[in-house]
Amino acid sequence: MTLSTSSLAQPADLPALDKLLGQSELASAIQHYGLTLVTQQLRLLLAQLRSRAVAQQLPTADVEPAAIIQQLKQQLTTVTASRLKSVINLTGTVLHTNLGRALLPDSAVAAVTQVLTQPTNLEFDLTTGKRGDRDSLIEDLICELTGAEAATVVNNNAAAVLLMLNALASQQEVIVSRGELVEIGGSFRIPDIMSSAGSTLVEVGTTNRTHYADYQRAINEHTAMLMKVHCSNYAVVGFTKETTLNELVKLGQQHQIPVTVDLGSGTLVDLAEWGLPHEPTVKETLTAGADLVTFSGDKLLGGPQAGFIVGRKSLIDIIKKHPLKRALRVGKLTMAALESILALYRSPELLPERLTTLGLLTRAKSDIQQQAEQLAPSLQQTLGSDYQVASAPMHSQIGSGAMPIDSLPSYGLIVHYLGSAKASRAIMELEQWLRTQATPIIGRLHKNALYLDCRCLTSEQAHLLKATWSSHPL
Ligand SMILES: *Cc1c(COP(=O)(O)O)cnc(C)c1O
Repeated sequence: MTLSTSSLAQPADLPALDKLLGQSELASAIQHYGLTLVTQQLRLLLAQLRSRAVAQQLPTADVEPAAIIQQLKQQLTTVTASRLKSVINLTGTVLHTNLGRALLPDSAVAAVTQVLTQPTNLEFDLTTGKRGDRDSLIEDLICELTGAEAATVVNNNAAAVLLMLNALASQQEVIVSRGELVEIGGSFRIPDIMSSAGSTLVEVGTTNRTHYADYQRAINEHTAMLMKVHCSNYAVVGFTKETTLNELVKLGQQHQIPVTVDLGSGTLVDLAEWGLPHEPTVKETLTAGADLVTFSGDKLLGGPQAGFIVGRKSLIDIIKKHPLKRALRVGKLTMAALESILALYRSPELLPERLTTLGLLTRAKSDIQQQAEQLAPSLQQTLGSDYQVASAPMHSQIGSGAMPIDSLPSYGLIVHYLGSAKASRAIMELEQWLRTQATPIIGRLHKNALYLDCRCLTSEQAHLLKATWSSHPL
């Protein structure tokens, strides 16, 4: 755009900062955001306008006080908008690590709100009036639900494994099968955790086959632990041999070496009860003889981010006294949410109604299908005849590495592009458009089509979806 010089503003035409701040149109913004932030943002805006004026690129209309104030208000809305936003998860992955994993029910949220706004007995023993131990608030409950003798909680499962190794196997050897040297997304790798803990990883067997004798041969006077890691996010299939936990326990007992299991997802109930694939429970693992078990709070358990170490009391006592335990301990928000979530497990038959994650995992396909079919016409109308929107069956994933090869029958929308432009490009643009809405809508690209799985869609969000795409025709 070329502008005639007469319609261009000069730097001297810019109104003074104080004059702008005194305008009555800014009074409500100053009351809302405070004078400091408004002044800072106005300075930034005026500096930008000045550079454009110097570059002979500023139309005179843009230096009108009303125009500047309008721009300033927009700028204030943008800079104060929350970076952590709610999104609509149509990826089909229920426990999506990048979207914050487990969602908590209102009961847990209420417990968190209470400890955030009111003093609490976090580390205060109400019986003795002396200092208490925060773990004790939920230790009984964890033991009741898992059959463990003792338990401790830290910030996440990576921290649980790190702490366990540091406390029990620092400067010593830990034997792990080559088939179980897991990498979990976000750079948690068993070999790296071992070296951070100062433990020497002794790999035994091969990727697909590890025998009892492989473990047996590797044991020496430096061995501090036999460790099994649950293959959360992959499966070894075909010509395979895994030494069972029972066998390893026998070996550990013979040599008086603790056997530990990193279960990863770790559920407290048998999910097969609700037609989901069976995942070893914490209780089963302890019953099979594991001395310690580690698992996450925000995967299948359905709680807040946390990591548990449960099992033999003599080992837990050592772990609790380690200095890293203090560094990795959980805050009161986590404690409150955990207590509330764990308590739900006392009534297992009511879990699908009360535990959000299990509700999503067990949601009936017919219900999801009905929702998808209701949504399809409105999206089709928004996108027009260049696109084809079909409601169709698809498969959801549990996510977070839980049961990587099992998938859940679900329903959703599949969008194909039929127009004359490049299909892959058009579909990518559609995905981006949905992702950049005020409430971002996150789908999944697959073979030049956009998949929108409705499993995790609440009815409120479904209204929001419809409103979003009907108010913004592409
Ligand atoms: C997920 C997982 C971890 C890490 O747990 P976070 O809670 O994400 O720290 C560790 N080990 C296994 C086997 C896992 O599946």
